[in-house]
Amino acid sequence: MTSKVFHRKSNVLLPKVVEARGAWCVDASGKWYLDGGSSGAGLTCLGHGHPAVMEAVQDQLRKISFMHGALFTSDPLEELAQELIDHAPAGLDRAFFTSGGSEAIEAALMMTRQYAVESGQDGRRTIISRRNSFHGATVMTLAVGDAGNRKRPFVPPSLETPKIAPTYAYRDKRDDESLEAYGARIADELEQAILREAPGAVLAFIAETVVGSSSGALTPPPGYLVRIRDICNRHGVLLILDEVYCGLGRTGHLHACQADGVVPDILVVAKGLAAGYAPIGAVLVGEALHDAIAGGSGSFKGGFTHSGHILSCAAALAVQRTVRREGLLQNVVKQAQRLEARLAERFAQHPNIGEIRGRGLMRGLEIVADRISKKPFDATEKISSRLSQACMEQGLLCNVASGTIDGTRGEHVLLAPPFIVSDEEIDELTARLAAALDNALGRAR
Ligand code: PLP
Repeated sequence: MTSKVFHRKSNVLLPKVVEARGAWCVDASGKWYLDGGSSGAGLTCLGHGHPAVMEAVQDQLRKISFMHGALFTSDPLEELAQELIDHAPAGLDRAFFTSGGSEAIEAALMMTRQYAVESGQDGRRTIISRRNSFHGATVMTLAVGDAGNRKRPFVPPSLETPKIAPTYAYRDKRDDESLEAYGARIADELEQAILREAPGAVLAFIAETVVGSSSGALTPPPGYLVRIRDICNRHGVLLILDEVYCGLGRTGHLHACQADGVVPDILVVAKGLAAGYAPIGAVLVGEALHDAIAGGSGSFKGGFTHSGHILSCAAALAVQRTVRREGLLQNVVKQAQRLEARLAERFAQHPNIGEIRGRGLMRGLEIVADRISKKPFDATEKISSRLSQACMEQGLLCNVASGTIDGTRGEHVLLAPPFIVSDEEIDELTARLAAALDNALGRAR
């Protein structure tokens, strides 16, 4: 029977997943897969089938699953907001909910603009972001993003926004500069970009704290985000940190920006929020931004039907409480050390791995044709699709992507195992990745 699904990938025959437990899932043929990428997208951080979440969702389902957020509030919604704000960096006081990451980024962008309009700063319209960034798959989020292959067909030139350098020390740091000096140099690109616009025209700067899918776990150089914060403050520009991928524990801190000592004006989280048990994203903002809109028009214009979906909130609340109760951030830190060591053993001298990078359980391996020149493979060799296929054959789920360097050139693997991963699973994951890499590169030669 031909499938009636409009699959996102039409050129591959997808296996059918039937069940999952912990860090493993099984397809209809009985083949098991180890989850080295939290379901391929950094999502299922609690693993599958956690009893506390299943129980909370079932309980909530018996009471009520949905009511429109313009008519009622609910306990799961109020308690989830309280939970997030109680543990958010000081200065973030309110939570707005969406169905996922793209909607949350879109809502964040709309909030900044509405805030500007309602606080007498109508001239602020420009949003600055970084080259080769990914902030979602709606047209507005693609516009502030710069993910070449994904963006090109959709965005009219009028939606192009100014871009500054990504945090990509592996390729962009000069040999004669320290990591700190490199960070300061690329942070200063933000100030230069602001000054190129008309005075008072820049609304916001958006960036991922640790870059996820577009380039494979790029971390900010020391001092970079502090300098970015200072530039934003001096120019009245709002700082939006996209922690859709890297947030809520993935890097070993609840919020990735806590490691850098920076509090954004808006913090966006999604994937780890309900960990795949339900679709949900959240936008955390300070009281000043909230009050400008609440005390102005009194109505945020970016609400969605599913904003504050009660069942999703109940799932997210159970996930966040479970992460805390079970001390899973400690396991992230512990297993991150093991993963780092295993990856170094296997790949530090590998002729086709240029760099191993990242924080916590978010690790990227950049694939190169030549380690010395850092030259990427030619796109015609299709290394990333070969490696994706080889990983599936090995029974390993992870994110293999192309466009690492500039949206078109370069390839990487992004590993993001669930927070419940064990010692044995970390070892198994690295062994399977090594076998997949051998197979993919063997075939490429
Ligand atoms: N922002 C970042 C950094 C992401 O990694 C993603 C998804 O991968 C998004 C936004 C979009 O989130 P979603 O796919 O949930 O819409």
